[in-house]
Amino acid sequence: MKSTSKADFEVAVVGGGPSGSTAALVLARSGARVIVIDKAQFPRDKACGDVIGPKAVRILETLGVSRPADAIDLSDVAIVGPSGAAIRLPSEAGLDYSGIGWSCPRTSFDAHLLQAAVTNGACVRTARVEKIGSDSRRFELRLSDGTEVTSDYLIGADGSNSSTATQLDLVDSASLLLGFAARSYVTGKVELPTISLWNSDKRRLFPGYGWAFPSFGGRLNLGVGVGVGSNRKLGAAATKQVPIYAEMLYRTGIIEKPPTLGPLLGGWIKMGSSGTKAALGNALLVGDAAGFVNPLQGEGIAQAIASGKAAAEVILAGYGRPAKQYQNWIDDNLAPYQRAASVLHRLALQSPALASVATSVLFAKPLESVIASTWGIFWNDLADGAGRISGAGSARTLLKMLNYVDLLSNRYAPRP
Ligand SMILES: Cc1cc2nc3c(=O)[nH]c(=O)nc-3n(C[C@H](O)[C@H](O)[C@H](O)COP(=O)(O)OP(=O)(O)OC[C@H]3O[C@@H](n4cnc5c(N)ncnc54)[C@H](O)[C@@H]3O)c2cc1C
Repeated sequence: MKSTSKADFEVAVVGGGPSGSTAALVLARSGARVIVIDKAQFPRDKACGDVIGPKAVRILETLGVSRPADAIDLSDVAIVGPSGAAIRLPSEAGLDYSGIGWSCPRTSFDAHLLQAAVTNGACVRTARVEKIGSDSRRFELRLSDGTEVTSDYLIGADGSNSSTATQLDLVDSASLLLGFAARSYVTGKVELPTISLWNSDKRRLFPGYGWAFPSFGGRLNLGVGVGVGSNRKLGAAATKQVPIYAEMLYRTGIIEKPPTLGPLLGGWIKMGSSGTKAALGNALLVGDAAGFVNPLQGEGIAQAIASGKAAAEVILAGYGRPAKQYQNWIDDNLAPYQRAASVLHRLALQSPALASVATSVLFAKPLESVIASTWGIFWNDLADGAGRISGAGSARTLLKMLNYVDLLSNRYAPRP
């Protein structure tokens, strides 16, 4: 990949994952001088279920990014409940999303997207950004290779533990809604991409879920994610659950052979835009750095790509006040769902017994077709762009109701 010794840029992007690469691609294509700085040499691995959701696929198509060679198409998904009952969530194209998602190992997906940015003219440097300074007009980034980069604008795309967000004082760690997830690859296949909800004891829903997604080359990406609120000490539970979950998949006949797990890789997930201010002056946070991950199912790549594109477009529009314009975009496009899904996530954390009862209702046979279509749209954050397809109306109603609950709970919450 192209490297540069030039230290002065219009835009410096910290992090070359999906959010940073998309921002760089859009900026570079319009002629901006942009550098992506990532501490890892690409291709690099990243803990993930490797599902590139339907919104992400659509945005990548509109940006002219091709499908990576080792991506496979995914459509319907099976959700298995605590009783073993399963529900099939249908996949259908909406107004702003594709009818399919991709399963693609992050090693190749992220390198593919970064390469697309480079092909469009972005520069890349492999180094850790150690210190970010700024005067009223420019940013000064000190890198681990001893060099400095200066820029007019800064995009923080450095993931859930973003040091850009910390250094710019944009994070309140006590208010974060965190999850930890770990995955492994195993040889095997499943009839449909499978997500399992289960109870840790008879009356308490395990606050998270397990997944087994088909992957390139006859493998499965198999993992577990748990919600931990803001308590990082609880994250280790996910790693411990992966072998238990793998065994359960075999015991319940979802996979045919006893799985032999490969190495486990885990990572933090910052959800629901919680505890993070996404923009300040000429600095914009995108993707996981801003905590845009879906609080219900852990998807973050679509939001990473969408926010990277939006941040780039706001800078290119030359408003002079990109933070305000970017925050408006977030308020219009991401915030309503992030708020609604956070209400449900926090409820499941606070009342696992209630969540357990509610989950069993979701698998009630007589309601199956209504629930499946609404669920597929709502929890994948597709309600706004779903047009008139089945389940869209009820998903939008649920979205509105939960936003109302959020509004009321903020208004009447006891003040510290
Ligand atoms: C186990 C697990 C499973 C998941 N499964 C899915 C899934 O199936 N589908 C989905 O959509 N989402 C999933 N997610 C979420 C998804 O991985 C993220 O939302 C997505 O990676 C966000 O992209 P990003 O570009 O914002 O950040 P990242 O992909 O995390 O990229 C950040 C980059 O910043 C670099 N960096 C960090 N600090 C510095 C620094 N100081 N200097 C320079 N570089 C730095 C890192 O090396 C990295 O390359 C999962 C997450 C986990 C942990």
